[in-house]
Amino acid sequence: MNVVLFGPPGAGKGTQAKELSNHYKIPHISTGDILRANVQDGTELGNKAKEYMDKGELVPDEVLIGIIRNRLAEPDCESGYLLDGYPRTIPQADALSDILTDIDKPLQVVLNLDVPDEELVIRLSGRYVCKCGNSYHLTFNPPENTGICDTCGKELYQRDDDKEDVIRQRLISYHNKTHPLIKYYGDRDLLVNIAGAGDINEVFDSIIHVLDMYDLT
Ligand code: ADP
Ligand code: AMP
Repeated sequence: MNVVLFGPPGAGKGTQAKELSNHYKIPHISTGDILRANVQDGTELGNKAKEYMDKGELVPDEVLIGIIRNRLAEPDCESGYLLDGYPRTIPQADALSDILTDIDKPLQVVLNLDVPDEELVIRLSGRYVCKCGNSYHLTFNPPENTGICDTCGKELYQRDDDKEDVIRQRLISYHNKTHPLIKYYGDRDLLVNIAGAGDINEVFDSIIHVLDMYDLT
């Protein structure tokens, strides 16, 4: 199954991707997670990326294209892939298409999680995350024990870029640079819109319904 999970920041891509990856046994590839791991490890790439991430701007295309090319070449992608947070620009989408041709794993569907901006701000400003990749919300998806990850027991924290001014900048970047990909993938008959404003289980059921209808292997 070769899928892009698309949508603005806070649409629920990470939340859904984690469940979908378990359900369909395909790797969840989040470029945001890869960049944050590099920031955490203090790599050269991480130090460069942090300058952009802290401001809510996109990291340059050539950096992301290199990351995704390497990641898709790993053996676990034999079973397919679930991309989350990539592509975010038209040059990234063009590069993805070339990479997927090279590895003979063409994209089958782009699921666009549609959520209004004001809801995104509420979601992102209440988000708490864990190092293991889990994402919670103070109100909409709280952990069983306040401040502690249900899965691994580690302490939850707020992302540096989940502050209101940075959130607004991320939404501007999304509308200017990423939103045009809806037309890009629509023109290629790959786009399916999913109402992302329902609760987490409802959205999951809608996605499963679409993917099962496509009967992707
Ligand atoms: P993205 O990966 O698209 O940036 P996340 O999956 O991290 O978004 O979700 C952003 C925030 O919204 C998190 O706090 C998450 O718990 C919460 N969330 C995700 N899906 C929903 C939903 N359907 N309804 C309400 N809150 C949600
Ligand atoms: P995310 O975890 O998807 O919300 O991404 C967090 C931040 O990482 C973004 O605000 C960008 O600065 C950077 N980032 C993640 N993916 C990409 C991408 N495909 N292109 C450019 N920047 C990215």
